[in-house]
Amino acid sequence: MNLEDITTVKSILSQPQKIAIIPHKNPDGDAIGSCLGLLNFLKDKGLQATVISPNDYPKFLKWMPGSDTILNFEKENSQCKKALEEATVIFTLDFNDLSRTGQLETVLKEKKADFIMIDHHQQPSNYAKVTYSDVSMSSTCEMVYNFIEYLGGIDSITKAIATNLYTGIMTDTGSFKYRSTSSRTHRVVADLIDRGAENMEIHQNIYDTNSPSRLHLLGVALSNMVILPEYNAAYITLTQEELDKHDFKKGDTEGFVNYGLTLEGIIFAVIFIENKEEGIIKISFRSIGDFSVNEFARNHFNGGGHDNAAGGRSEISMEETINQFNTILKTYKSQLNP
Ligand code: 5GP
Ligand code: MN
Repeated sequence: MNLEDITTVKSILSQPQKIAIIPHKNPDGDAIGSCLGLLNFLKDKGLQATVISPNDYPKFLKWMPGSDTILNFEKENSQCKKALEEATVIFTLDFNDLSRTGQLETVLKEKKADFIMIDHHQQPSNYAKVTYSDVSMSSTCEMVYNFIEYLGGIDSITKAIATNLYTGIMTDTGSFKYRSTSSRTHRVVADLIDRGAENMEIHQNIYDTNSPSRLHLLGVALSNMVILPEYNAAYITLTQEELDKHDFKKGDTEGFVNYGLTLEGIIFAVIFIENKEEGIIKISFRSIGDFSVNEFARNHFNGGGHDNAAGGRSEISMEETINQFNTILKTYKSQLNP
């Protein structure tokens, strides 16, 4: 954020405002962590604020401080609409385009309010009064930490704020191992621990709460994995039938895509997950090194994200999607054999 943006934000937040904070659809740890970190910070400043999620989010995030106050636009529609009507300021966190908010998109597009975007995804759209976008950042949570620092609020970071921000940085960096993890990220995380984040407990809350059915589903995913050595690629498919058989709950497939990358030499991993209710195949892409899955997802699967982690979708059947993917892959042979 430049000085002008900081001055603008300070001036906005010095007035009595009604604030809505919005994560992307199917929010992950970074989206929920950044929204709740900011929520707690704004509330502690005496401002009125509410987090409105486009839809539900995984159970393994539901312990996060303040998560019990999150409104769900799908389930608590009229309450959300009212909060949005009244809102004078709207923070949009961890996404780069209003289309990432699903059904909320039309409401937000028509809404007159001061929008403030905080995000680390590539190619941000231009809808906000203040756009704090930095694609080099590990996570939106690290950016919310910076945002609080810009506003001179570091010493008001409570245990609740520290816990939320720590969680999002941890989940978005694959526990501090992805390329975007900088020495600064580690300094921020160290400070969050000093301010009350219980790192071991947070890790356990997120990663050690598997259900037997989720681990069995992981088993199915791993045995479905197809390895394509000529492209240094691996992909997994999960059909709706397989999900149903294993009592699938939102979030159960989180992290499955990364197993492909643990194979020696594999630099491109993909998971295709059927969602019959939405009539789509949800796709996650991951890479190691210079192969940009953001470009791949944007160009072929109506998606986007970061260089090494992106998502997309397909509206044809699983079989047709895989055929399409295999055809597209042929044109990337040299890029995938650097
Ligand atoms: P995931 O594969 O975990 O759903 O998402 C990986 C990254 O890509 C996340 O940063 C997520 O926000 C982003 N992403 C996921 N799906 C989409 C999509 O459909 N469009 C765009 N632009 N980004 C996505
Ligand atoms: Mn993120």
